Amino acid sequence: MAYNNSRKPVSQHVYEDTMVWQCSECQCWSRMEFILVGEPECPLCHAKMVQELKNVRVD
Ligand SMILES: [Zn+2]
Repeated sequence: MAYNNSRKPVSQHVYEDTMVWQCSECQCWSRMEFILVGEPECPLCHAKMVQELKNVRVD
């Protein structure tokens, strides 16, 4: 009797809770590692951005 070996899923994306800068006015956000200033403003609407935990794709 033969059994099929279960295969690994083909390159699934990995998601992880990550701290990001989230715009307080629109949906724009950016990873903190890309922001070098202490209090960034949104590149789209120039509103203040706040630190937030977001589930983002890491792979
Ligand atoms: Zn914005």
